[in-house]
Amino acid sequence: MFEYPDTKLLIDGSWSAGATSKTIGVVNPATEGVIGQVAHASRGDLERALAAAERGFAVWSATSAFERSKLMRRAAELLRERADQIAAIMTLEQGKPLAESKAETLGAADTIDWFAEEARRAYGRVIPARGAGITQLALKTPVGPVAAFTPWNFPINQISRKLSAALASGCSIIVKAPEETPASPAELIRCFLDAGLPAGVVGLVYGNPAEISEYLIAHPTIRKISFTGSTPVGKHLAALAGAHMKRATMELGGHAPAIVMEDADLDLAIPQLVTHKLRNAGQVCVSPTRFLVAESVADKFMEGFVEAAGKVVVGDGSEPGVEMGPLANDRRIFALEAMIADAVDRGAKVALGGRRIGNKGYFFQPTVLTEVPTDAAIMNDEPFGPIAIINRYGSRDEIITEANRLRFGLASYAYTRSAAHQEALKSVRAGMMSVNHLGLGIPELPFGGIMHSGYGSEGGSEAIEAYLDTRLFTAANGQ
Ligand code: NAD
Repeated sequence: MFEYPDTKLLIDGSWSAGATSKTIGVVNPATEGVIGQVAHASRGDLERALAAAERGFAVWSATSAFERSKLMRRAAELLRERADQIAAIMTLEQGKPLAESKAETLGAADTIDWFAEEARRAYGRVIPARGAGITQLALKTPVGPVAAFTPWNFPINQISRKLSAALASGCSIIVKAPEETPASPAELIRCFLDAGLPAGVVGLVYGNPAEISEYLIAHPTIRKISFTGSTPVGKHLAALAGAHMKRATMELGGHAPAIVMEDADLDLAIPQLVTHKLRNAGQVCVSPTRFLVAESVADKFMEGFVEAAGKVVVGDGSEPGVEMGPLANDRRIFALEAMIADAVDRGAKVALGGRRIGNKGYFFQPTVLTEVPTDAAIMNDEPFGPIAIINRYGSRDEIITEANRLRFGLASYAYTRSAAHQEALKSVRAGMMSVNHLGLGIPELPFGGIMHSGYGSEGGSEAIEAYLDTRLFTAANGQ
C-alpha cells in the first residue's frame, strides 16, 4: 500500500529533521485528514543552509555548463521515471486530479531539459571597439546563491522554473517550498541529488514563510530572490529585496480577461475555456477569470459554458474519472463564499453552482456568475477558485477598456477570427495574450506579468538572464 511520506529539510546534501525536530501537519484537502508531517526550519537550520549554499555556489559555478547540463538532463529523466509515484503524492497533498499531477510532473521534466540546453547557450558578447587592439567583452556570470519562495498551487512546476534557471546559470539555490504541499517538491529535488548534484547546490526548507523570507532576503549570502504568490506578499518581499539591493523576480497574481468576440468559434472557445477555468479548481495565476463576451454571442456562449462546466466531475483527485479536485485549503472556501455573497448583494446572478459541496473535504461547485458589477470584490481581487464571471459588452472598445481596468497584467485570452480584432488585442495590457488557443506556460515561451502582476520572465531565453550578472571586461592589447 502506497504511503504518503513525511518531509525533511535538505541542508548540505543531507535530509534532516531540523535542530528542533518541530514539524507541521500536512492535510489531504479531499478528506481533511492529517496525512504526514513536514520539518520546520529554525534559525540555526537556515544558517547551515546558507553556509552550504555558499560552498555549493563555489562548486557549481566552477562546474562547466556542459557538465551542469548533463546532470540536469539526468534529473529530468529520473523525474519522468518516477512521475506516477510523485503524481500520487502531489494529489494527496494538493488535491488536483492524478492526471493533472502527472502532467505537471512531466511538464517540469521538459522545463529542466529546456533550461539544461539553455545552460550551454548563456553567451556573452564581443563588442566592436572604437580603437585598434582593444578587446571589449560582456561577460555573463552567475549572480550567486538564490532564495526561492514557491506556493502550493503547483508544488513542482513553480519550483522547477526557478530551480532550473538557477542551476543552468551556475547558481546555488535555497528553496522555501510550500508547507501545505511539501512532499512532491522534495521528490523533485531528490531527482537532482540522485543525478549527482553536489552537496549545498540545492537546499530545501519549510517553516514560517514570513520569518524565513525576512531572514534569507536580508542575508548577505543571498544575491537574488524569486517569488511566486499573491501581489500583497510579492510587494512586501520586493520591498525587502530593494532594501537589501537584491535582484528579484516576482510572479504574482492576475485576473485574466478571456475575450470572446462576436466572430469567435464558440465550438473551440467553450471547451477550451471551461477546461482551462476548472484546471486545478481555478487556483492558477493565469486562470481565465473575467469572461468579456460580445453581446451578440453572449447567450449562446453562456449556455454552452454553463452546460459544459455543469458536467465536470468533482471529487477526490485520487479517484479515477474525477476532473476537478477540492480546493487546496479551507482559506479558499471562505474567500470564495465571501466573494460570491458580495457579488450577489451587488446584483450579480448565479448561473451555476456557487456553493461548497458537502462538509468534508474542501470541494466547491464549478460556478458561473453573470451581470457582475465592476464594484464587486470579485471583479477586482483574484478569485483563485473555480468561478467564471461572464459579462456582456456592446463593442470591442468596451471589452478592451474592461480588460485594462485593473492593475493586474498577467495572462489574457481571446477568441476571434478577425485580423482587425487581433491587431486591437495588442493593446490589452498583459504580460501574455493567447488568441484562439491556450498557448501559455511552455518552457520556451516568456512567462510573466507586468504592472501589479510582477516583473521578470520565468520562461524563454529571458528567464536565464535573471540569474546572470552582465560584467564588462575590456583590455588594450599590445600597449
Ligand atoms: P498568501 O498571500 O498568504 O500566500 C501566498 C503564498 O505566499 C503562499 O505560498 C505563502 O506560503 C507565501 N507567503 C505568504 N507570506 C509570505 C512571506 N512573508 N514570505 C514568503 N512567502 C510568503 O495566501 P494564500 O492563502 O496561501 O493564497 C491565496 C492567494 O495567494 C490567492 O488569492 C492568490 O492570489 C495567491 N497565490 C498566487 C499564486 C500564483 O501562482 N501566482 C499561487 C498561490 C497563491
